[in-house]
Amino acid sequence: MTKDSAAIYFEGIYEDIPEELLDIRDEARASDVPIIRSSAGALLRFFIRTRKPDRILEIGSGTGYSALTMWEASGRSAQITTIEKYEKRIPKARENFEKYGAAESIELLEGDASDILKKLDGPYPFIFMDAAKGQYLNFLPDIMRLLSPGGMLVSDNILQDGDALRSRYAVRRRDRTIHARMREYLYELAHNEELETLFLEDGDGISVSIKKER
Ligand code: SAH
Ligand code: MG
Repeated sequence: MTKDSAAIYFEGIYEDIPEELLDIRDEARASDVPIIRSSAGALLRFFIRTRKPDRILEIGSGTGYSALTMWEASGRSAQITTIEKYEKRIPKARENFEKYGAAESIELLEGDASDILKKLDGPYPFIFMDAAKGQYLNFLPDIMRLLSPGGMLVSDNILQDGDALRSRYAVRRRDRTIHARMREYLYELAHNEELETLFLEDGDGISVSIKKER
């Protein structure tokens, strides 16, 4: 049994993903737009259903699949702010929010998250990090400012397709900066005194951090 066959099996037994959302997912998969894996979708649904955050911040909208997954899991009640810098994906994401009836609830901010995050006001009880992996570390100070006490930060793709596990010397030279930054990010999640973090090996690796209450 491989990890992939387990993922496919579990995907098959997960229920209640609305048809329109499956269409958006399939379209993204067919056009090579990155989207969360099914295990990450299940994790987001689980935490959003149980924690019921009223506001959600996402870094990396893609074409909107994960934002819509989170919105659906919130019973269509959360206000979501999502950030995307890639011009080609922005209109598609907007179209998907529109098509899904979520345009009023999901605000898409266009531009580089390193600029946009600085201008945002918190608090956000739930933050989903899913952008360029080499930048997570740079975003972290703003994330810490924006995250509510007791709030949850979920970070996707922390294994970088397995690179994060390899020695620096086993990673291609051009990937070494990202590799070092991701490792530093993981170290920070584990050791930052304000955070409590759980690392999961699911999919491409995903971590769940809680900002401690003061
Ligand atoms: N969360 C989406 C997929 C996001 S893919 C989903 O699962 O449906 C990651 C996205 O982050 C890409 O579209 C990329 O353009 C965007 N991105 C990467 N770095 C960014 C940055 N610094 N600021 C804003 N968006 C960024
Ligand atoms: Mg991802």
